Amino acid sequence: MEYINKKIQEYKEKDGILYAIYGTPAENLCGLQIKQFRKKYGIVANVSDKPYVSNSFHCHVSEQISPIEKQDLEGRFWDLFNGGKIQYVKYPIDYNTDAVETLINRAMDKGFYEGVNLSLSYCDDCGHQELNMDVCPKCGSKNLTKIERMNGYLAYSRVKGDSRLADHKMEEIKDRVSM
Ligand SMILES: [Zn+2]
Repeated sequence: MEYINKKIQEYKEKDGILYAIYGTPAENLCGLQIKQFRKKYGIVANVSDKPYVSNSFHCHVSEQISPIEKQDLEGRFWDLFNGGKIQYVKYPIDYNTDAVETLINRAMDKGFYEGVNLSLSYCDDCGHQELNMDVCPKCGSKNLTKIERMNGYLAYSRVKGDSRLADHKMEEIKDRVSM
């Protein structure tokens, strides 16, 4: 990122245009790019072995890390994306509100634009609600409606059992642990 920023500085002076790097999650591109990468370089362990590319400078969604670790690891790149960026952490639905508040204050002290994600799924057959489920533990139904953070916004990843999101995004959602 430092290399790209240096290049941007050169182009700014040359062209007189205010180029900037945007830390985008690129909803469609994260699936397309992996196909393009594999065509050229094949499947490389920990680089192109998943059917999606991770969002911008964020830790991999499957990392087993705490919100504090995630804030610190991603904070290293914060100043290198001056076109726009977000840092976010996922909390369980039975969250400790004092802890969430502390983490938001911590993010504000660091100057982050902080996203707080609480996902939720509910069963359309019996009404049972849970943070995350693919099969209802109460009645065994797969007729579920799920809400997840998509990119910068919340979206239904399932409506009455069916997904409306791209396959590569659903693969990423399946791997999510710390975000
Ligand atoms: Zn149910």
